[in-house]
This record gives sequence, structure tokens and C-alpha cells, in this order.
Amino acid sequence: MVPDYHIHTPLCRHAEGNPAEFKTQARRLGIPEIAFTDHVPNPDGYDPRCRMSMEEWPTYRNLILDQQTVEPPQVLFGVEADYYEGCERFLRPSLSNQPLDLVIGSIHYLGTWGFDNPEERQVWDTVDVTGAWQKYFELLGRFAESRLIDVIGHLDLPKKFGYRPPEHAIRDMAHPALDRIAQAGLAIEINTSGLRKPVREIYPSAMLLALARERDIPICFGSDAHKPEEVGDRFEESLKLAREAGYTQAVRFSAHQKTVYPLP
Ligand code: ZN
Ligand code: FE
Ligand code: FE
Ligand code: ZN
Repeated sequence: MVPDYHIHTPLCRHAEGNPAEFKTQARRLGIPEIAFTDHVPNPDGYDPRCRMSMEEWPTYRNLILDQQTVEPPQVLFGVEADYYEGCERFLRPSLSNQPLDLVIGSIHYLGTWGFDNPEERQVWDTVDVTGAWQKYFELLGRFAESRLIDVIGHLDLPKKFGYRPPEHAIRDMAHPALDRIAQAGLAIEINTSGLRKPVREIYPSAMLLALARERDIPICFGSDAHKPEEVGDRFEESLKLAREAGYTQAVRFSAHQKTVYPLP
């Protein structure tokens, strides 16, 4: 099995199970390493219902560092950070003050619209779908260049509810974003949470993963587990997707540094 680098904790108020239970599940599956990457606290009022508060940083840190015992799997300390206009102002000090192993950078908002939030799903019926995707990839490119993050999370998240332009249009708009991701030396994750969502697909699609492979963008794996039984969810499908795209290796992280390992 390969490391699972995308795991949440109940501190985000929409996950269940304690970190020890996530770890136990990983050990049961023979996963050698996991990273907790809970939603980063935000002082600007972005969705306080689904993240810890700024005051909870130390609680989160201690919760994760407490899991770093001799018992396998190894446990990494990470976060999933969101991007929006102006977020660097607080994200930069916030992230550099923590002994983080990795930061996943994800876009969950277009303006104030939480486009992947089930409660805001109906907004998709009222917007220009292609325009929304275009805006998404522009923001992703900007986030890639921010030097705040190590991994791009769920690369084609806007497909979550099935709203998407034709594949050739996605290809055209993803091109520049992937160039910027490659240029910044970031990895992307193969995230199986899409299999549990209406779209029923892994993020990213085979087409986008092939474009990433062409640019030598490294990969890692994530379940986006919000409960212990989701750890390592259907990683065999992720491995198959990676191999079919031509990948033979993936990366591990420690203190923001990547090392390569061969795919099993
Ligand atoms: Zn979440
Ligand atoms: Fe996310
Ligand atoms: Fe997540
Ligand atoms: Zn996520």
C-alpha cells in the first residue's frame, strides 16, 4: 500500500472518529504513512462551520503530534488550505509558524460561492459552467505560484456534481494551470473521494493525469477521509489510474521535502 496523504479530523466539524482510529485503520490496511490534512483555520469568516478556529491550531497540532509514536504507520502533520483573493496575508504567517510536513492547496470557493458544498449545489444551474471552470483553473494557477503549498488537492473538483464542459474545453483551460503547477515544483494528489460523490470518479480524470505526466508533475495519494473507514479508500483504483497514465513512481513528504518511491 501507498501513503494516504489526505485525512481530516473532527476538528473541522464535519468529520467523525478520532485520529487514533484513523491511524488504526491505516495500520490494518498496511498503509505505511498517513498525513492528517484538516481544513486550515481561517480568520476571514470563510465557512467557520466546516473548519477549526484560529485558536484551535495548538489543539490540532498536539492532536496530530501525539500520534507520532513508534507504532506504524508514520504520521505526518499537514493541512488543507483554501485559496481566495487576499488569503496570502494570513496564510503565510499561519503556515510558516507550524512544523508542517505538507500543505495541500485546494480551491473550494469561486468568490463567495462554495461550489463543492452540497448546500450550494443548485447555484451550478444558474451559472455559466464553462466560465466557472475557467475561473477555477485561473485561481488554481495563482495558488500554485503562491509558494504556500506542496500539493494540489482534487485537481478537477468542479466535476463533483457532474457539471462540466466538454473534455476538450477542460483540456484547454487546464493546460496553463498545469504548466504553472509544474513550474512551481508542486505535486498533485490522486484523490478517491470523488468516487463517493455524485460524479463517482477519482480526481483527477485520466485525461488530466496524462497531461500532468507529460509535465513530470509528481503524484501522491489521498482518500480525503472524513471517517476512519474511508482511509485508503479504493487506492487500488488510484494505482491503476496512475500506472495507466505512465507513472512508475510517487512522492512522500517530510517537512515540505519530497522523496520519490516506486509504485508497488
Ligand atoms: Zn472536509
Ligand atoms: Fe477539499
Ligand atoms: Fe479534504
Ligand atoms: Zn479535500
